[in-house]
Amino acid sequence: MRITNLRATPLAVPFRQPERWAFGTRSGLVSILVEVETDDGVTGIGEAAAYPSADIVLAVLRSLEDLVVGEDPMRIERLSKRIELVGTWHHVKASSPAIAAVEMACWDIVGKICGQPLVNLFGGRVRDEVEFFYYLSQQAPAQMAVDAAHGADEGFRTFYLKVGADDPALDIARVEAVRDGAGADALIRVDANESWSSGAAIRIIKQMEPFGLELVEQPVSGRNLQEMAYVRARVDTPILANEASWTRYDQLEVIRHGAADAVSLDNQMDGGLLNLKRGAGLCEVAGLPVLKHSLGELGVAVCAAVHVLASTPNFLPASQSYASFLLDDILADASPLPYKSGRLRVPTEPGIGVRLDKERVEKYAELYQRGARAFAFADSEAMVATPVLPKS
Ligand SMILES: [Mg+2]
Repeated sequence: MRITNLRATPLAVPFRQPERWAFGTRSGLVSILVEVETDDGVTGIGEAAAYPSADIVLAVLRSLEDLVVGEDPMRIERLSKRIELVGTWHHVKASSPAIAAVEMACWDIVGKICGQPLVNLFGGRVRDEVEFFYYLSQQAPAQMAVDAAHGADEGFRTFYLKVGADDPALDIARVEAVRDGAGADALIRVDANESWSSGAAIRIIKQMEPFGLELVEQPVSGRNLQEMAYVRARVDTPILANEASWTRYDQLEVIRHGAADAVSLDNQMDGGLLNLKRGAGLCEVAGLPVLKHSLGELGVAVCAAVHVLASTPNFLPASQSYASFLLDDILADASPLPYKSGRLRVPTEPGIGVRLDKERVEKYAELYQRGARAFAFADSEAMVATPVLPKS
C-alpha cells in the first residue's frame, strides 16, 4: 500500500463564548483537516491545530508531500524518521502539528486495515471513558462563578482557569468565585502561562491555597527549570509543567530537574500519537502522572488522542479540551462531541473511529475562506496590552 495524496482543508469553527487569556482573545478556532489517501482506496483522517498559524501548517504540509507520497502508511516509525531526518524537520514545535496530523491519519489507516479501534493497537483499554476539564473563560469573578456552576451542572469535575492577571487580587477573587460556583468537591486547576517570577508565584499560590487547588500549571518560565523546582519546594500545591514539557526531550529535563509533580504532554507539539505514548512512558518510569494538553482541537484530534489516553495508565483523570467553548464540530452524529459528565467514551469503530460530516466540513471550510481573523489570538488590543514578564 502506498500513500498517493495529502489533502489539507483549513476549517474555522466558532466558540459559544470568547476565549480570553493574558495575550489575547479569540472567538473560535482554526484547525486543518488532513486526509491521507492511498492506492488501496483507504483514506486516513488527521487534524492539525493552526499552530503557530494556519499558513505555516499548510506550508509544512506542502513540504511534506515529497517525503510522504509513495511511502507505506503502515510503516509509521520509518515515515516519522524519514520526515525528521531526510526532510530535516527535526526542528520540531512550529512544524510539529502538521507532522502529527499526517502521523494521526496513518494510524487511522492502520486501524482501518486491521479492523481495530486504535485503543487496541496502543495497549488496550485501561479505562472505557476519558475525562476532560471544564475550561472557564477569563471574566469578572461573579460571571466565572455562574459559568463554573453551569459546568458542574453538566457533570464536569475539574475546572481550569487562566491566572497571571496584572492584579493578583483579581486572580485570587476568580479562584474564590470558581470554588463558590463549582462546589466543594470540584478540582480547581490554575494556569499562569509563565507569568510570575518565583517570588510572585510563591506569594500568590499561598493566597490561593485556602480555596483548594488541584494543580498550578506553569507558574514561572518553562525555560528555567531551577526556578520551577524552587517554587515547587515552597508551596503545597502540585506543580504541572506545560511550556516546560512540549517534547520528550523537554520532559526528560523536567524529570532530571525535579521541576514538576505532573507533566502536560501534547501529541500535536511532539510529532504524533506514538510520541504521546512515549512521553507518558518516560514520565511513568519517573513516577510522574501526565495529562494531555490541547492547543484547541476538533473531534478528529480529540478522539485520536482518546485512544492513547484510554490505553495508558498514568494519565490523570482530567485532560484538556475545548468542550466548554466549541459551538459545533465536524463529526457525523457527534457534533458537538457527546461529553457525558465531562467524559468521552472510547470510539469502537476501526481506526480513530470517527466519520466526517461532509456538510459541516464544507460549512466551516467556507467560514475559514470568508476570513478567520477573529479566530486567531493576534488581536491588536492584546498586543498593546501585553505585559512584560515575569511579573514580580
Ligand atoms: Mg498551559
